Amino acid sequence: MDAARTVMTETPEPAAEAVGRVTPKASDEVARITPMMEQYIEIKAANPDCLLFYRMGDFYEMFFDDAEVASRALGIMLTKRGKHLGNDIPMCGVPIERADEYLHRLIALGHRVAVCEQLEDPAEAKKRGAKSVVRRDVVRLVTPGTLTEDSLLDAKRNNYLLALVRSRASADDDRFALAWIDISTGEFCVAECDRTSLAAEIARIEPGEIIVSDAFYADTELAPFLRSLPALTPLTRDVFDGATAERRLSAFFGVATTAAFGSFSRIELAAAAAAVTYVERTQLGKRPPLSVPARELGGATLAIDQATRGNLELVRTLSGERRGSLLAAIDRTVTAAGSRLLAQRLAAPLTDAAEIAHRLDAVAVFVDDGAARNDLRSGLKAVPDLARALARIVVGRGGPRDLAAIRDGILAAADFSARLARLGAAPRDIALAAAALCRPDAAIAAELKRALADELPASRRDGGFVRAGYELALDEARALRDESRRVVAALQVRYAETTGIRALKIRHNNVLGYFVDVSAQHGDKLLSAPLNLTFIHRQTLAGQVRFSTSELGDLEAKIANAAERALALELEIFDRLAAAVSTASAPIKEAANALAAIDVATALAALAAERDYVRPEVDGSLAFAITGGRHPVVEQARIADGGPFVANDCDLSPPPPTYPPPLAGENKEGAGRIWLVTGPNMAGKSTFLRQNALIAVLAQMGSYVPARAAHIGVVDRLFSRVGAADDLARGHSTFMVEMVETAAILNQAGERALVILDEIGRGTATFDGLSIAWATIEHLHESNRCRTLFATHFHEMTALAGKLNRLHNATMRVKEWQGDVVFLHEVVAGAADRSYGIQVAKLAGLPQSVIERAKVVLAQIEAEDRTSPARRLIDDLPLFAATRAAPASPRDGALNAVVDALAALNPDEMSPRQALEALYALKARLAKQS
Ligand code: ADP
Ligand code: MG
Repeated sequence: MDAARTVMTETPEPAAEAVGRVTPKASDEVARITPMMEQYIEIKAANPDCLLFYRMGDFYEMFFDDAEVASRALGIMLTKRGKHLGNDIPMCGVPIERADEYLHRLIALGHRVAVCEQLEDPAEAKKRGAKSVVRRDVVRLVTPGTLTEDSLLDAKRNNYLLALVRSRASADDDRFALAWIDISTGEFCVAECDRTSLAAEIARIEPGEIIVSDAFYADTELAPFLRSLPALTPLTRDVFDGATAERRLSAFFGVATTAAFGSFSRIELAAAAAAVTYVERTQLGKRPPLSVPARELGGATLAIDQATRGNLELVRTLSGERRGSLLAAIDRTVTAAGSRLLAQRLAAPLTDAAEIAHRLDAVAVFVDDGAARNDLRSGLKAVPDLARALARIVVGRGGPRDLAAIRDGILAAADFSARLARLGAAPRDIALAAAALCRPDAAIAAELKRALADELPASRRDGGFVRAGYELALDEARALRDESRRVVAALQVRYAETTGIRALKIRHNNVLGYFVDVSAQHGDKLLSAPLNLTFIHRQTLAGQVRFSTSELGDLEAKIANAAERALALELEIFDRLAAAVSTASAPIKEAANALAAIDVATALAALAAERDYVRPEVDGSLAFAITGGRHPVVEQARIADGGPFVANDCDLSPPPPTYPPPLAGENKEGAGRIWLVTGPNMAGKSTFLRQNALIAVLAQMGSYVPARAAHIGVVDRLFSRVGAADDLARGHSTFMVEMVETAAILNQAGERALVILDEIGRGTATFDGLSIAWATIEHLHESNRCRTLFATHFHEMTALAGKLNRLHNATMRVKEWQGDVVFLHEVVAGAADRSYGIQVAKLAGLPQSVIERAKVVLAQIEAEDRTSPARRLIDDLPLFAATRAAPASPRDGALNAVVDALAALNPDEMSPRQALEALYALKARLAKQS
């Protein structure tokens, strides 16, 4: 940073801004504030919750606390600049050309940054007087949820800003509205939910930033939950004001009323308005090309809570990487937008069988037509990220390459529309995409094609992006500029001739402008008459002497003017093109979405063809019948290692109706089955459980699935829990986490849920664990009645199949071979008789002596276990009797009986002895029943 500081002092700052170069006298030190500091403090006061990037020349400077925070966060040097109220002002800065990189790091750490620019040339300020300060203001707030730059974003992921609003009907009847926006792509959705599904909804959206009202933020009951969320920004109440919501929202979209967007609840409107208000604030009034808010109906997507998402490793693994996740395993998209759409679909599988079928139809077309699939996919590879380029153009942050992306995107869209038309009769989703693809205005693409040069600079400020011949005035300015340059070259030749110095050169730098440069030995010649009349000495360096001439001065001004004029004209053209694009942004965005949809459909088809996936049958039944299912991620890993993956069936469909039909009131058939999966460690239980959950997710997102056949009745909630998963970060013990998560399932899972429980009850003592697992299974069977896969190492539980009619025992086949155990990874009906823990321990390399000793101990325990309480459980325990309504406890029953008996007594007609006997009888009754 030392070098950087040096550059700093060279920046053209008005003298008045050189705070602290003069040390004020002690007496006025306290009161004195320089005009620049005054400006800084004013701007900072308007943006108290942001780090202020204060533009000074080629740097963004930070002062005071900001400087301390940023220097620590970025590892840059903290210096000081002048004094404020008698104290040193801490300062640090980042060079503008590296600002994006530093911004990225600050944002990733959860900071918000206000970018304050110089709004005029320092020379302008000087004209107002030596003491005047360059006009500056904040042009943008950079927050985690409102980014547009490719350098700050992950191309393959959406980055959402989420506004969260609560309505308090009563203490236990909170409703929440969520509105989420990706300003880099224009997506905008709204939904409502209750307290139980709030966390799951947020986990699905994975917002980069969440905004809530101050009051909500301060809520003590929700505080622990809110604090656990990433980048939470509390804002003043007015942002969430319901009364002005409708007006703000319609103003943003420039419509008279939001009625045309569909009907929103009061809190949905408030959330949507809060989100757009925040977008406007951070973009300082610029309006990114948002789609009108799309309302998601409650229950339209498969509810998957955070623990389940993590556990199933849908979009990232438990260690946080994309590699190894389901998303990585199935992503065959070739565009960034396609990749984002695929991630969205994976995060929010559908629950409407007809919609799912539409998506599957689109995939099916390209599964069947491999030629069309390959053709489209190779074409898509060249398609730019239209949505993000468009967003940058509209908020005024775009460059020439973004315009080129829009040109290429529109042309590609038209081309793809024609290619899709050639497919013939297309299913709904493809027909919709084809229609959207030909909607953008072809004239815009044509205009951009005419206007843009072949080679484009990254920034429009660099100029040179407009094609020669596009605009006469620009061509003239450029000719003048280039002509002048030729004149300079000619001048150099002439000066060399007249002076006789062959090595004379005309050069240019920022300090001297154009100058004549000769080596020291020739310097004297120009310094003496008559040449000293033409050549005016400017600078003597070690080996060089430099001169200016009046001719050079004139030329310089001409060149600068011409170049300046050329750039100004180019910027004007840029603005014109950008405005044209902005006006036509809606159809361009639709085309971008359509391209992404085609990418996803063809990519899923490519996956299905490559991995031999099958189209699932998804309907409104409660079926769950998978034939030859495979784990999409483990399978690929196994194949990469050269091993086979063993396919397995799973059938959780309700058992066929019995005959004769059960008596009224007893009709408990029709609910799905529970598979209790036993088997030794490493046999493949967890893999089997997860593969079935993943197949359900894939099917409902509209993908083919890794199986020979799959029939799935729509799942509305998916739960997956693993015993003994640590969550130390949140301060829960292993067992506590396991129980909290199990409680959530037992309280929430309905008949349409799919529940995966992997070794629940493992985190505590054996009998505790067994008892909990036991009671959990009973509750799932009798009360939740949902399709369930339950892996356990408590083999005692397999006896439950005798009592619970929809419980099915399954086990992992293993073979014993010369005292070792071989895992066949095959799921078969039946119960494991042994856990082979010792064999697994042996495989893991435990010392032979320990293995031998363990065998002796095991034999002893097994002999005693014949009479253990767990063995008798099944015979002695009455069946779990829970119903959905809280059941009357035995205690209540006894009380009722006693109360009834008491009511039947008539003390007036009783002798003292009868009264005493009645009292004894009541006591006895109570004792017997409680
Ligand atoms: P468990 O839960 O029974 O301890 P896992 O499901 O963790 O066993 O599986 C252990 C390992 O066995 C996995 O990492 C995987 O490599 C392998 N495996 C599991 N299922 C299969 C299968 N169906 N085919 C091939 N290998 C499998
Ligand atoms: Mg396991």
